[in-house]
Amino acid sequence: MATYNLAVILRNPLNDAEFLLVKQTRPPKFGEEEYDSFVDSDLWDLPRTQLNLLEGEPESRIDVSGAESWSEKIELRNFDVNSALNRIREEVLFGAVQWGHWRFWKYVEEAEFGPGPPVQTVYIEGISVPGYQNLQESCKWMSAQSCLNWLLEVTPSSDRIGPLVVAGLLDNSSQSREWKVPQHLNYQEYPPGVTLVPMKSRTAKPFHTTNLIVFAPDNPSDYRGDICFVASGDALIVDPGCHSDLHEELKNIVASLPKKLVVFVTHHHRDHIDGLSIVQRYNPDAVLLAHENTMRRIGKDDWSLGYISIAGSEDICIGGQRLNAVFAPGHTDGHMALLHVSTHSLIVGDHCVGQGSAVLDSTSGGNMAEYFKSTYKFMELSPHALVPMHGRVNLWPKHMLCGYLKNRRSRETSIVKAIENGAQTLFDIVAYVYSEVDRRFWIPAASNVRLHVDHLAQQDKLPKKLSTPVSLHSLTTWVNYNSNEESFSLWPITSYLTLGIFHSEVPEDVWYAILISMDLGNTYQ
Ligand SMILES: [Zn+2]
Ligand SMILES: [Zn+2]
Repeated sequence: MATYNLAVILRNPLNDAEFLLVKQTRPPKFGEEEYDSFVDSDLWDLPRTQLNLLEGEPESRIDVSGAESWSEKIELRNFDVNSALNRIREEVLFGAVQWGHWRFWKYVEEAEFGPGPPVQTVYIEGISVPGYQNLQESCKWMSAQSCLNWLLEVTPSSDRIGPLVVAGLLDNSSQSREWKVPQHLNYQEYPPGVTLVPMKSRTAKPFHTTNLIVFAPDNPSDYRGDICFVASGDALIVDPGCHSDLHEELKNIVASLPKKLVVFVTHHHRDHIDGLSIVQRYNPDAVLLAHENTMRRIGKDDWSLGYISIAGSEDICIGGQRLNAVFAPGHTDGHMALLHVSTHSLIVGDHCVGQGSAVLDSTSGGNMAEYFKSTYKFMELSPHALVPMHGRVNLWPKHMLCGYLKNRRSRETSIVKAIENGAQTLFDIVAYVYSEVDRRFWIPAASNVRLHVDHLAQQDKLPKKLSTPVSLHSLTTWVNYNSNEESFSLWPITSYLTLGIFHSEVPEDVWYAILISMDLGNTYQ
């Protein structure tokens, strides 16, 4: 069941080109200087609150003109618009404005980011009453053109404009642009020029989609300045990793894009490259950009066309817009991120996910020390938005990245404690550190714990009895339980990890057998 938001476009009575923006509340501080010293710039967006279904007859009903013409999509009479507007005035605008009548503006269905249900947004437009112009510091009037300028002419510390403004007031992409997303797929364009199409993929729970990211400027220019570009084209897609069920949709997207297409893959996991063969079949002119450690893990069936090896710092020119490749190992040893320079949005691959923390792949060069380094590298870039391949765009990049650092450091403290308390196997440590977490997540967690142990060993922080790393060899073999034949057999870990399926298609009892079989004492003695 979807949840609903009400967003308000409140026009300035003295200048109806301007509407009211509210400074968004920051996520809570960490209470530690080390993390709180990284501060994201201010974020401004339309006033918004949750829109609940009516329970019983309302005391008074607000008339929203034009709502009838949207009734096929949403029946606004069934919602408590009155309470939502009161909440916006009291809690968001602190009673600072009075308003007149309302008009239905737009209804936007969120794309399938997951893991929870989509959040649908009803936009209504109204005009405030003159005489209430003394706005709080947290509110300001702004025009759509000024918002667009802020979004497209970004400096690392400049204020930012949020996605409600973009989807509600700036997005007319469906009419104007030449390339098309099939109608039944919802997508999001944020920041302008960066389009995310979540497509069903073989990814790990709790997610079920991979964001296909598309850049295809409407008015491509030839401007190249004096920059040397490693590749150029009229369109770029990132991580075509959708499931074969969605290959027809991917084909349609690729067929509608300009022929001069650049394909960028952040890393080789199947949920990021499953659609590559479709791209090469329907656009043989396309060129692939990837790190060499990624490329050597991609088979000829997936890609046999042109390929350019990148190692980080290369510039790519797409329709006159500049993108910059960022080497970001940690999740794997070939993992790359991509910065869209004009909006300063950073596509982070699987380094971050929309919710929860990312899993590192120990069988493909995943490395915790590199992961920490890449996280700091991202923070130095001061991105205005983080675009993960699974889940929603993150609007508080530095806060999110600091949260990852803090979380991983506290995991390492717990691991040391577990070992000091007698943990001998990976299973012991996982059971200790993740005792509060649903057991279904223990397996992907085990991969991270293993890398944390390596990281602790490198820093000489492991308790003495486990302080000498030997090899990862015992971890490259997993026990696979065949429930039909009731037998165990040995399978390489890569058959699970490189498919990106981790725990999702393997029975729970098998994982316990696997975990118990990983005796840390054999590898750290
Ligand atoms: Zn991955
Ligand atoms: Zn992934």
